[in-house]
Amino acid sequence: MNFRSHNQIIGEIAGLITLVSYGASCLNHFFHHKHPDTEDDPHCPINISFLKFAMLAPFSGTKVIRENFYLIHKKNFETFVIFHTSLLFHFISIFLKVILLFILIGKNAFILYFIPAYLVYIYVFVDVNYSTHVLDKKDNKIKILNLNESYLQKYVNWVGLGIYFHKNHHLNKKMVNPKYLNKLLS
Ligand SMILES: [Zn+2]
Ligand SMILES: [Zn+2]
Repeated sequence: MNFRSHNQIIGEIAGLITLVSYGASCLNHFFHHKHPDTEDDPHCPINISFLKFAMLAPFSGTKVIRENFYLIHKKNFETFVIFHTSLLFHFISIFLKVILLFILIGKNAFILYFIPAYLVYIYVFVDVNYSTHVLDKKDNKIKILNLNESYLQKYVNWVGLGIYFHKNHHLNKKMVNPKYLNKLLS
């Protein structure tokens, strides 16, 4: 087994709580970095409300991935069927993961641990993306921010390897904890 296969297995297990496959997460993440804050960004939060951004988050990557898929494989009946069958299995897999978790950990742990953990994950995921990409009204330019001000941001940065240091993360995607980028540069 090569290193990339290990990555895939570890990614699937670590990301189980997100209910989204590692492959889909990688694609969304890749396109977010390639085209941040444009219509080719799977999660661009500019000019929409927090609630709408949160509601669209599970589906917003589909359009970008579909368009890039057709760019590579050309749009025809066969590629249309392949893409939409994969998409169908993607959403079925989310449903099956919920059932699997329910069976594996039981009803009580599912209600007491999984549901709160999932809601916290969704809130943090949405808030990190929403609050670190902002439109600066002074010059009408989109800015990517490092945030470490509120108690929530400080706590999440502490347990979540500096995830709100998003400007630093865009400057260097390979750092495990982007909080330390400035130290690295100085
Ligand atoms: Zn990233
Ligand atoms: Zn970003």
